[in-house]
Amino acid sequence: MEAPCPNCGKDTEGYGPRNLCRDCFLQEEQLLEVPEEIEVERCQHCGRIRQGMDWVEVGGEARSSAGASESTNAERSVRGDREIISEVLEDEIDTDKISAVSFEEKSNGYSLRLMVEDEVEKEDLQQEVETFLEVEKVQCPTCARFEGGYYEYVIQLRGEQVDEALDRMMERAVEVTGDERENFVSDVERRDGGYDLYASNRETAEELLKVLREGYDMEEKRSKELVGREDGQEVYRSVVSARLV
Ligand SMILES: [Zn+2]
Ligand SMILES: [Zn+2]
Repeated sequence: MEAPCPNCGKDTEGYGPRNLCRDCFLQEEQLLEVPEEIEVERCQHCGRIRQGMDWVEVGGEARSSAGASESTNAERSVRGDREIISEVLEDEIDTDKISAVSFEEKSNGYSLRLMVEDEVEKEDLQQEVETFLEVEKVQCPTCARFEGGYYEYVIQLRGEQVDEALDRMMERAVEVTGDERENFVSDVERRDGGYDLYASNRETAEELLKVLREGYDMEEKRSKELVGREDGQEVYRSVVSARLV
């Protein structure tokens, strides 16, 4: 049954609890609750974005952009923007109701136009919603560790064929970093009769030692040194003496 819209007086079947006409309903009601501003932290070194306690990869190809032509880089950058936007939106709001997203890049983020679709009184309604996605440039904890030369393991490589062994270990190091950013070799130092390799964590160190075990005869000795306290816990650093014979 049609009745006059309480706002404008136009005859209408009535949308929503106030029985507004369709135009007034879309002006007053939001089909989807979208905050006026959404914030995300993005690491300016590795490009990952923060979701809760996690740092999430976006724009997977950004890492191998060396040597690419300019147009390809531009295309990649737009795809990277889109990936950041959709990753954040999926984390923040109910994207099932969003049928299209357009964006404009700003110095501190993106202004977004979302096309929202929803069924109201058995009719599909569409509404455009604007929001701003602010991107805060930060350094993620992993990159901060890398920059700071962080390490938990020292591998003291000594003995025969150390140059060749070092090359093999560094090839493996590139692979383990590719698998997981937390895995890295933060430094290599030339020592009398060999090298010291500084590995960020146990997984990295074990992978490097595996290279030695598989390719050489090795005498291995392990020790730990106390480096300090963190949250009331004693923090140790492991030293692995690896002598190739
Ligand atoms: Zn009306
Ligand atoms: Zn980072």
